[in-house]
Amino acid sequence: MLTHFIGGEPVVAGKAFPVHDPVTGAVVRQACEADPEVVDRAVRAARQAARDWAAMPVGERAGWMRRLAEGIEARFDDLVAAEIADTGKPLDQTRTLDIPRGIANFRAFAEIASQRPEDAFHLPGVLSYTVRRPLGVIAVIVPWNLPFLLMTWKLAPALVSGNTVVVKPSEHTPGSAAVFAELCAEVGLPPGVVNVIFGHGPAGQLLVEHPGVDAVTFTGSTATGTAIMKSVADRVKRISFELGGKNAGLVFEDGDLGKAVEGAVKSVFTNGGQVCLCTERLYVQRPVFEEFCAALAARAQEIVPQPMISAEHREKVLSYYALARSEGAKVLAGGGVPAFGDHRDAGYFVEPTVVTGLSEWSRFNREEIFGPVCHVAPFDSEAEAIDLANGSEYGLAATVWTTNLDRAHRVAQRLEAGLVWVNTWYLRDLRTPFGGVKLSGIGREGGTRSLDFYSEPTTITIKLEQPDV
Ligand code: NAD
Repeated sequence: MLTHFIGGEPVVAGKAFPVHDPVTGAVVRQACEADPEVVDRAVRAARQAARDWAAMPVGERAGWMRRLAEGIEARFDDLVAAEIADTGKPLDQTRTLDIPRGIANFRAFAEIASQRPEDAFHLPGVLSYTVRRPLGVIAVIVPWNLPFLLMTWKLAPALVSGNTVVVKPSEHTPGSAAVFAELCAEVGLPPGVVNVIFGHGPAGQLLVEHPGVDAVTFTGSTATGTAIMKSVADRVKRISFELGGKNAGLVFEDGDLGKAVEGAVKSVFTNGGQVCLCTERLYVQRPVFEEFCAALAARAQEIVPQPMISAEHREKVLSYYALARSEGAKVLAGGGVPAFGDHRDAGYFVEPTVVTGLSEWSRFNREEIFGPVCHVAPFDSEAEAIDLANGSEYGLAATVWTTNLDRAHRVAQRLEAGLVWVNTWYLRDLRTPFGGVKLSGIGREGGTRSLDFYSEPTTITIKLEQPDV
């Protein structure tokens, strides 16, 4: 049974709920559901720890971040096992991306925070400078698709900036957060600095609404983001939202078609398409459209399917496969449920799928599906490609495949997205701003942008009297 972690101690409280292995559908563990009392206790523990943690020099907190990174290294195999048990991710991805990124997050923000200069402004006889103070207690609410990577992406800058946190991982993926809580105690992190509670959406809502919480950092769906925004509006709490996407990929005829196809395979099917940055809309210049579609469809049929996180999510993705057909799509690959003939047949799999022939106004092309699926459509001109990519209510990420340098910059700068990749996908420098526009979010995290979100500047202005001479 996974227990909450509050004030440095395991806390057994609330009803138990089951967590399923998406590969087999079997129950892998039980976790405690946070009730109002548990949430209150966690927020109080965080508040109690906040004063000493905030008073610590940033260099010392950076030292704690490095110790947490070492703690992750020491529990690497346990974290890998927990993440795989909850998500069904491939071992290789978990070992090379999900858990190492947690280490990188703590190391990167230790550096960024300790090297950050303060602003100073001079006028004759006037000195103004800013100091940054932590916000207090941060609610960290994260989804199930990259549980450890996304949790640590928020924890590291929040903690190094001097805040204490209450984390609520997704109800589908509490395992790696539970191991992280243990390792916080193992490295001797002061009690109450990191608190972890488990539970479903209502537990998250109790947490964000708690008057002892000063700010909310959230990654998840746009629907939940809007619900949280309403919940915290009365208290004008600071929010940072990384939400859904309906990301476009543009393939120009001057692009390297082989690389564009492989890039599309990665950007559509990685993690079963369950990455906010995944491409769901591909636009290909007409002269290479047929060739691209044939190559992508052939590659889609070779992909080893990854499970969807839950039976409900699989039903949602399959409902979009059915919708595509009812809206008149031509299915180029997949479109159904794979038959393995082994234990995986009880799991939550869908086939990697490529469709074409739908209008831009179809629901399929407008709504985030979050599965291993994309729609491919042709375009003629660069201007049309830009309009198609921008014709979405979302604006998280986009990819551009071209070998024309002028076009690469021209197009990338006109795309309404927080992140644009040219001839690559998901290549990240943790110092760069990360986030989306339109329905894809509010604000940016990453590098000093994260430190800005997790702290408040105070401007101090001093009048400097000139001595009489
Ligand atoms: P979700 O919104 O259903 O849940 C996310 C978290 O919010 C979970 O921990 C959940 O328990 C909690 N929650 C649910 N209702 C709540 C409420 N009313 N108040 C407070 N907390 C609540 O999202 P999900 O299904 O777990 O994740 C998939 C979504 O996340 C997709 O839309 C995807 O695009 C998005 N995502 C975005 C990014 C990004 O960086 N932009 C990254 C990863 C995932």
